[in-house]
Amino acid sequence: MQAEGFKPFSGPDAFRVLAKAKERLNLEKMEMDDILKAVSSLGSLMETEIALIYALQDQICTRCGWCCTENTSLRVSKDELKNIAAFKKSSYKKLKKRIRARPRKDRTLRVTRHPCPFYEDGCSVYKIRPGVCRSYPTSKILSALAGGGPYPDKCEISDDLLAELVIKRALEEKMSRENPELIKELADKKRDEMGRLSQMTQAQRFQYLVKHHRDRLKQAE
Ligand code: SF4
Ligand code: SF4
Repeated sequence: MQAEGFKPFSGPDAFRVLAKAKERLNLEKMEMDDILKAVSSLGSLMETEIALIYALQDQICTRCGWCCTENTSLRVSKDELKNIAAFKKSSYKKLKKRIRARPRKDRTLRVTRHPCPFYEDGCSVYKIRPGVCRSYPTSKILSALAGGGPYPDKCEISDDLLAELVIKRALEEKMSRENPELIKELADKKRDEMGRLSQMTQAQRFQYLVKHHRDRLKQAE
């Protein structure tokens, strides 16, 4: 039985994710049922999986610029805008005026110039880009999975990120079915791993999860 509030991931977005995962897996060694189950189970993600897709998005973003030029207006905090002003060697006030930043109720600012005024054939403030940019598209994927907004299907890496999770889950399912005696051993390892992860800084944790995930994929080849 699924957890209360769980909604299977389905519809056209799920079909595309399924196709991506199939493309990348050696299907002779995989059960189609495991892959289908993994896709539909994406409605609920574990914390480590969320950390993993946040880490992966940075690595596989193609910098196509769609989210900067077509997406809705940019939201920045005052500190983020101050950092950008310093980076651009401008005064905060002048920059705020130039980009037509308007205060929001939550004390952040909405940049009403569109497309993003920091986009100049690529992000001109990439190293210090605001949090909303750093977390795209994962933040939108998570909110879509929770039923809180549209799935970011225009971002060309959204499906790839979820396909990575599908592959991970399908492999885990196959492993636990084929080696039931390993389940206890794996559960112990998982507990140790969780303990180690909780001691790490966020950067160390991301690095660890990305490496760990790559090793799993290599084993499946
Ligand atoms: S739309 Fe997606 S792939 Fe393109 S720059 Fe934005 S995050 Fe990267
Ligand atoms: S700040 Fe950079 S990453 Fe963010 S929307 Fe503007 S150009 Fe894109």
